[in-house]
Amino acid sequence: MPSRFALLFLAAPLFAQDALISRPDVKKALAFIETSQERTLASQVAIAEIAAPTFHESERAKYLASEFRRVGLTNVEIDKQGNVLGWRPGDSPDTFVLAAHLDISFAEGVNVKVRKEGARWHGPGLADDSRGLAALLNIAEAMNAAGIKTHQTVLFVANVGEEGLGDLNGVRYLFKESPMKDRLREFISIDGSDPTRIVNGGTGVKRYRVTLTGPGGHSYGNFGRPSPIHAAGRIIDQLADMQVPANPKTTFNVGRISGGTAVNAIAEECSFEVDLRSVDPGVLDRIEAKLFEAVRVGTELENKARAASGSVMKSDMKLVSNRPAGQTALTSPLVLAAQAAITATGQKPQLEFSSTDSNIPISLGVPAITMGGGGRSGNAHSLDEWFEPANAWKGPQTVLLTILEFDRMK
Ligand SMILES: [Zn+2]
Repeated sequence: MPSRFALLFLAAPLFAQDALISRPDVKKALAFIETSQERTLASQVAIAEIAAPTFHESERAKYLASEFRRVGLTNVEIDKQGNVLGWRPGDSPDTFVLAAHLDISFAEGVNVKVRKEGARWHGPGLADDSRGLAALLNIAEAMNAAGIKTHQTVLFVANVGEEGLGDLNGVRYLFKESPMKDRLREFISIDGSDPTRIVNGGTGVKRYRVTLTGPGGHSYGNFGRPSPIHAAGRIIDQLADMQVPANPKTTFNVGRISGGTAVNAIAEECSFEVDLRSVDPGVLDRIEAKLFEAVRVGTELENKARAASGSVMKSDMKLVSNRPAGQTALTSPLVLAAQAAITATGQKPQLEFSSTDSNIPISLGVPAITMGGGGRSGNAHSLDEWFEPANAWKGPQTVLLTILEFDRMK
């Protein structure tokens, strides 16, 4: 599998992109996007200030449904999974899906108030993915204002469950269970900001919750019994030393740990969550096997060390997230259209691997990419996430041109 670095700086193919951007309706739509930039930013802030932690997206979904209606999408509904759907019919029932995710990677109760400092706006989820949602609305509005007609139908989706333990459940439902699943032909997710980025490869992700349980007891009176926290230490020590290849990029992280009740009590329980990623499915399987082995060995060592107590502790593992790895080919018309669109807006395309909603359609053989909604941003998934709106209109312009370039090849 090629690394992301090997894929940088590919020359974008030259289609008849010039002809596309000189079409009067397209010009009108691009101008609409540029001149509505302040409103798009205001819409982004309004969306960001409605909290939407994964599994609690409904309030933001209701707002997006009303916005979908306002920008002229038809048959707007919130589906069984909680995704907001809005249609823009074309000549064909074959459907191009344009999505952005509703959820933010923060727990309930997070302060989502957006604040401005100089040229920067700050707020959790402000870029990831309120920018994508605002871009979605801006694109629909621009297409309608300019009277753009497409061959394929476009389905606009504000989906649930992209972050963390959501495990891509919104897009998974759309492509695997929804009534329209068989007519969905291509997919673009607008996620984050960078308008030069095309994610055409899905990094595979597996996440486990490891739970260790033991008899507990007093730290002094029952000294000698096995401790789930001590076992967790033995297991995590092994994981921390795990060797992984830089290419294909492979990573691991113990991201959360909890357990125990008091400093003078042997813990009865300890659990921790492990995130494993690789762009290569085979390597991901191998590090998963190493995690299993570390848990087995760590538990065994703790029980052996405390064998004299006559009590034992146990381990249990649960797969809590599984995102398949895969790739939309560099020669795919969708990737070529995105490269041409980025070039046509005066930017240099960059191809990357990441874990996004596109993993699901890619794993089902549906061409899919993830693109940026425009502007600059940083500190995603932290409380200090920031966004800079300079030239941010290039995001929606690029995505719209990608759809239209692709549609023209149909
Ligand atoms: Zn995101």
